[in-house]
This record gives sequence, structure tokens and C-alpha cells, in this order.
Amino acid sequence: MAKPIILTIDDEIQVLNAIERDLRKRFGSEYRIMKSSSGTEALETLQQLKLRNSPVALLLADQRMPEMEGTEFLLQALDIYPQARKVLLTAYADTEAAIKGLNDVGLDHYLMKPWDPPDQNLYPVLEDLLSDWLATVPIPYDGIRIAGTLWSPQSHDIKDFLARNHIPYQWLDLEVDQETQLLVDSINDGDHRLPVLFFSDGSTLIQPDFRTLAEKVGLQTEATKTYYDLIIIGAGPAGLGAAVYGASEGLSTAMIEREAPGGQAGTSSRIENYLGFPKGISGGDLARRATDQAKRLGAEILTAVEVVDVRVEDIYRIVALNDGTELSCKALIIASGVTVRTLNEPGVERLTGAGIYYGAALTEASHYRDQDVFVVGGANSAGQAAMFFSRFAKKVTMLVRGTSLSKSMSQYLIDQIEDNEIIEVKTNTVVTEALGKERLTGIKIKDRVTEEEMELPAAAMFIFIGAKSHSHMVADVVAQNSAGFILAGRSLMRNGKRPQGWTSQRDPFPLETSVPGIFVAGDVRDGAVRRVASAVGEGANAVSQVHQYLKTV
Ligand SMILES: Cc1cc2nc3c(=O)[nH]c(=O)nc-3n(C[C@H](O)[C@H](O)[C@H](O)COP(=O)(O)OP(=O)(O)OC[C@H]3O[C@@H](n4cnc5c(N)ncnc54)[C@H](O)[C@@H]3O)c2cc1C
Repeated sequence: MAKPIILTIDDEIQVLNAIERDLRKRFGSEYRIMKSSSGTEALETLQQLKLRNSPVALLLADQRMPEMEGTEFLLQALDIYPQARKVLLTAYADTEAAIKGLNDVGLDHYLMKPWDPPDQNLYPVLEDLLSDWLATVPIPYDGIRIAGTLWSPQSHDIKDFLARNHIPYQWLDLEVDQETQLLVDSINDGDHRLPVLFFSDGSTLIQPDFRTLAEKVGLQTEATKTYYDLIIIGAGPAGLGAAVYGASEGLSTAMIEREAPGGQAGTSSRIENYLGFPKGISGGDLARRATDQAKRLGAEILTAVEVVDVRVEDIYRIVALNDGTELSCKALIIASGVTVRTLNEPGVERLTGAGIYYGAALTEASHYRDQDVFVVGGANSAGQAAMFFSRFAKKVTMLVRGTSLSKSMSQYLIDQIEDNEIIEVKTNTVVTEALGKERLTGIKIKDRVTEEEMELPAAAMFIFIGAKSHSHMVADVVAQNSAGFILAGRSLMRNGKRPQGWTSQRDPFPLETSVPGIFVAGDVRDGAVRRVASAVGEGANAVSQVHQYLKTV
């Protein structure tokens, strides 16, 4: 923790210097001693310190200052640092003001000038107040603080981005914290966008985009070279698998990720079927380990950067990024995965991020302690989420379109759900409307068999209903099926014939697309088994085929 601050204020420079000297002598090793020659200047200093979340332990103000009296200064300082201990320096004539201050300002003590000898008249009082402050004031958070409202989708997105990139932060809820509101008002200058982010260097960002935020928190957003042996689009399990094998096998490797490493798996609360983790592992933890491993082996990972286009020039595959730059490589692996499908019922889009979330939204779970939570969907991801939320919520209701869970969910999860008293499963049920003005307050559901409709109170709804491929950036480059999943290997062959425009004398490798040297791995591939292990395996496999390809060019 940074040293707590003692701030002293006096308009008479000689007195100010004398008290500063005495404070420094006794408290300088443990506290930062600051001084100011007017109340206005000192209030500005306190505002700046507050933005940095610097701890202020003690304010020592002279009562007689022409511009602003000591008691007036301490009264205003109370709004900024309510917990700081407050001491007034007075002359005999000011005793009445000091006594009044004890009530009005919550003054902790008043000292008579002169305070000589300090060992007797100054230090004992201040030592007492400082040890009291140390014992009662929580240590201020030294990292990123995010001020917003629970119901602001942008606040949710920023928290999610930081959490998925493993950057710690502290959440400050404007609706419950008056001090946070004052802090936000002090910097937003009429700009009411949320969230506002406070950094320990005193700087702030208002509703930043991911790229700006990534740069601010020190994530790599620019490549160090313009050419790589291997470029990977997407840092989900397939991309991470490819990066680990590519980099460890000597290929100069860059991986480009538009959000956060981990992909869908990174949003999973608990993956229980990935080899080597008998007690399961959270998606976030798995993603962090894989990211560290890929980096240690030499892969570059660009975060908050999107690939918007791909083109082929002779033996080079050129990748265009959303910041206007281009990178080239000899071999490209598309591992861009999928996004879960959206629920297009009235109210859902409007309330997304404000009580309605796609995926497990782990950052939000603890806000729904002892409340009614709904999970839409009947596959493994929905089941895992229901189990996870059952640790916080009063009740978790799973809304499943199909007639039972057994068609779409692993038996081990079905067993866990059946044994869990907090979870109720409603089969044959669909959501028809999301209710609420600024945040979700209820939902309408319909039984598909009886057609019966029902309105239920709901604090949160988490949706898991299928997936859409991320292949638009290569839509006119590689062959895809009608749903946009990328074809590879044998599925490209028609009656023994190679795909149209195929330029090589051999058949495509199993994970190679309709363009030689461009490979696909993971969920975005047509026919993929949507599992973490399969994605990782395909990433590794694609790299071995990249080696074979590179021998031919
Ligand atoms: C909530 C949840 C729980 C799950 N639980 C399990 C489980 O327990 N066990 C299991 O085996 N599987 C589970 N799965 C499935 C598993 O997570 C996926 O099969 C796996 O993540 C697929 O990996 P991928 O790398 O192919 O794609 P993704 O994980 O989808 O990753 C693709 C990445 O590419 C990025 N990207 C996309 N387009 C671009 C672009 N143009 N430029 C740059 N980057 C881009 C995306 O941001 C994303 O990070 C779960 C899925 C979900 C959603």
C-alpha cells in the first residue's frame, strides 16, 4: 500500500514550514507529508488524491486563513475524505470556533499554537489519532476501480472484458455509494456515460472501447513484426492449442483475439470433462494457464484486435486488422469459433446486460444472491451454469424447449441437477417476453404443449441456445456450408474432385480449407465436435498439417 498522507494547511508560510518539518521528523518514515497554503488549493489536492484512491489519514488546518477558515475547509474535506482524522490549529482567541467545530465538522482535536515542544504538545495527540485511523480504516484498493450501475450494459461489458483478461478490478456501484457518485461528478464534466474507470496513476477513462482499455492495462495490441510463419485468428481453445504447438515447434506465431483469450470456454464456470483436471477447472483458469503457456513458448497474442478481412497473394496469406494495419504469413489457422444464438423475443434485446446475459456471465452471478434466476437452454453449458448459480440464487429455474434434458445434456450433469434442491427444470417451455423498464424484473413463459402462459418475477436470465459461426471475414475466401461453417479436408471433395480454384497437386489436408495454406480448427469448422478437448486437439493437429504444407512452399 502507498504511504498514507498527512496534509497540513496554513496561509502563513513560516508556520506551514515549521509544522511540516515537525511532522516529517516524527511521521515521515511511515506517512507522506504534504502541505498547502490555502483551503481551496488543499481541496483540489484532495480531489486529485481521491481519483488515485490514495489514503489520507490526517488533515491539520489552521483556523485563521483569510480565504477559507480552517473549519470551513474541514467541513468541505469531509465530503471527500470522511474517514480522515481532522485537527484544527488555533490561537487562544479561536477556542470558541474550535469547540463549535467539534460538533459541526466532527473535529477530532484542536491544538493551540505554538505547539512547542512537539514531543509533548503535538506528537502524542497525532499518534493517538493516527493509530485510531489505522485500526478502523480499510486499506484502499490500489488497482482499477470501475464506477457504474449494475443495470448498465456497458458496465457489464467492461467488467467482463477485464475479468476475462484476468485483470483485477474493484466494482463501485453508483446506486448504493454516495462517495462514488461524488467522485464521478468530480471528473465527468457533464458527460454522463458509464462506466467511469479510475486508475492508480490518477487517470480516468469514460466508457472506453476495448482497444483503448487493453492498451491502458498493458495488453499487447500491436504486433512486433509484419510477417509471421503462422497467424491464428481467435484465441479460444483451438487457437491456444495451435499457438502452444506452433510456437513450441519453432514457428514464429501470432494469434489475434478480438475480445479475450479463452473464447467460449473462458466463459464457462466449470469444465468437468477436460482431461487432467479430475475436480474440473473453471474456463477462466484454463484460459489463463493456456495463455501463459503460449506466451512463454514465444507466441505473440494480440488482444482487443479483430481480423476484418483475409486475402491471398501468391504464397502469402494477408490478414487485415480493424486498426487498418495488415500482417502477412505463410500459413493461417482460422480458429474463430462461434457465438451463442440470441433470443429474439420482446424486451430481451433492450434488457441484455441489464439482468439478461448470454453465456454464464460469471462476473454477474454474485449480484443475484438470494434472488430468482432463470437459465434458458438444455445443453451442458446451461446445466453447468444452473449448477453454478445455485450456489448464490434463491432459486434457479431451467427453461428447456425440448421434452427432456437427456437429449442434449451429459448424464453426470443431469444427475447433479436432479440432486440439487435449488434447481427446478421446466421442459417444453419457452420465453415469450422479458419484462422490466431499466432492468429485468420478470419474464413471460409459455408451455408448448398446454399453450398456458405464465408471468414470473425474475432478477436475472442467462441464455444458452445454440451458436452462430464467426466466418464473415473469410466469407469470400474459403468454402463454407450454408450456415457459415467452414469446410475442410474430405468434406471439400465432390465425387472425388478437389474444390473449385484449388491450386495444389495434392488433396487438401484434413483440416485444410479450400485455399492451400489456410487451415480451420475448432467450433467454426463444419462438423466439429463442440468440446474444449476437440478444439485443442484440432489446433494442435492443424499445426502438424501446417508443417507439412510449409515443406511444399
Ligand atoms: C458456457 C459454455 C460452457 C461450455 N462448457 C464446456 C465443457 O464443459 N466442456 C467442453 O468440452 N466444452 C464446453 N463448451 C464448449 C467449448 O467451450 C467450445 O467447444 C470451445 O470453446 C470451442 O473453442 P474454439 O477455439 O473453436 O472457439 P471459441 O471458444 O468460440 O473461440 C473463438 C475465439 O475467436 C475469437 N474471434 C472470433 N472472430 C474473430 C476475429 N474476426 N478476429 C479475432 N478474433 C476473433 C472470439 O472472440 C473467440 O475468443 C462450453 C461452451 C460454453 C459457451
